Amino acid sequence: MFPFRGVDYLDLDSLLSEQELMVRQTTRRFVEERVIPIIEQHNREARFPAHLIAEMAELGFYGANLHEYGCAGMSNVEYGLLMQELERGDSSLRSFCSVQGALVMYPILTFGSEDQKKRWLPRLQKGTAIGCFGLTEPDFGSNPGGMRTKAVQDGAGFVLNGEKTWITNGTIADVAVVWARLEGTIRGFLVERGRPGFSASDIHGKWSLRASVTSSLSFVDCRLPAESLLPGAGGLKSPLMCLTQARYGIGWGSVGAAMSCYDTARQYTVLRKQFADRPIASHQLVQAELAWMITEITKAQLLALHVGRLKDQGKADFSHISMLKRNNVWMALETARRSRDLLGANGITDEYPIFRHMCNLETVKTYEGTHNIHTLIIGEKVTGVAAYT
Ligand SMILES: Cc1cc2nc3c(=O)[nH]c(=O)nc-3n(C[C@H](O)[C@H](O)[C@H](O)COP(=O)(O)OP(=O)(O)OC[C@H]3O[C@@H](n4cnc5c(N)ncnc54)[C@H](O)[C@@H]3O)c2cc1C
Repeated sequence: MFPFRGVDYLDLDSLLSEQELMVRQTTRRFVEERVIPIIEQHNREARFPAHLIAEMAELGFYGANLHEYGCAGMSNVEYGLLMQELERGDSSLRSFCSVQGALVMYPILTFGSEDQKKRWLPRLQKGTAIGCFGLTEPDFGSNPGGMRTKAVQDGAGFVLNGEKTWITNGTIADVAVVWARLEGTIRGFLVERGRPGFSASDIHGKWSLRASVTSSLSFVDCRLPAESLLPGAGGLKSPLMCLTQARYGIGWGSVGAAMSCYDTARQYTVLRKQFADRPIASHQLVQAELAWMITEITKAQLLALHVGRLKDQGKADFSHISMLKRNNVWMALETARRSRDLLGANGITDEYPIFRHMCNLETVKTYEGTHNIHTLIIGEKVTGVAAYT
């Protein structure tokens, strides 16, 4: 296959600034040189490419759209392009950056005390500390508001009991942002690795996000000091605000995965010959698939860019981001499935990136609010009627 040169049917690059193009190019080069050569092996071995943590930190990837405490202070469009390119490499790396930035650094910056910010943000930004975000529980996925994990005041500190599962980076994290009920209200706590009563174990046997660490967290009479509480967080709205940040990045990242699949399929169909020594790209049914994909990718690019511009103007709300996440992940998964089909038998091997993206996107469809949940968020927005229960 030829090196990736981007997918831009409508000259959308003309809508991007020099700075935005530079961020995209820097990330694209990193992915070409450092991710593409190693990712299939890591995926095969279900091993996170931890050696890239420091390199990604040096490029400013963690908390890239946050300001101060060493963060790169990128615009939301620059950050989106970064996420797009990273997920063209693999959803695992984009997930790592999403968790580190949107789900760990963002809540510390938004809800944390000055001491918490000073202690954690520079280290998280440099990748010398890793974070995870514990919201989901075994019995509460789409409905995190039902959570049972509980904190009880104990002198000046707290005692935490409960279980979290499907937690990205759980066993490699130095600090976990854990959501628990305190006197009935959902609050956020920073729980450091090694605290007595806190343990983490990995979930194995995944066919998706294989190059990502996914874990369960357990808290048994885990004593926390007073300063572990995020003072500014209160109620379900707080973790949902974090999810809005992460979902925004996913809305862009999924376009990157789709671009990889489409570009692979396009190149393959031009080279592969069947019937009268003609490339399969010469058949109308094959062209119809490619036409569908490039049209949907282009629509998704426009949606991402517009929501990004709205976010930069402070005008994007969670329901806009639900539409972005829901549409673009659906589009990417559908593009991956159609691309896989165009490669025939070759499409099922890891000689090509498509099947890996397709499997990854099954997770991306489920986490950060499932496709159905985003349907209900959009439905509530346009009708004023909530239909979750
Ligand atoms: C690899 C991976 C990494 C993850 N990382 C994290 C992480 O870092 N931190 C974290 O907290 N969580 C994480 N998650 C968990 C993820 O957010 C949840 O899996 C997700 O919220 C869905 O919950 P569930 O799996 O319990 O599915 P369920 O909530 O049981 O849903 C199952 C199905 O029922 C549907 N459904 C549920 N309720 C409704 C309804 N009211 N109407 C219509 N359909 C409905 C869903 O759409 C879905 O199709 C991760 C998950 C995976 C797979």
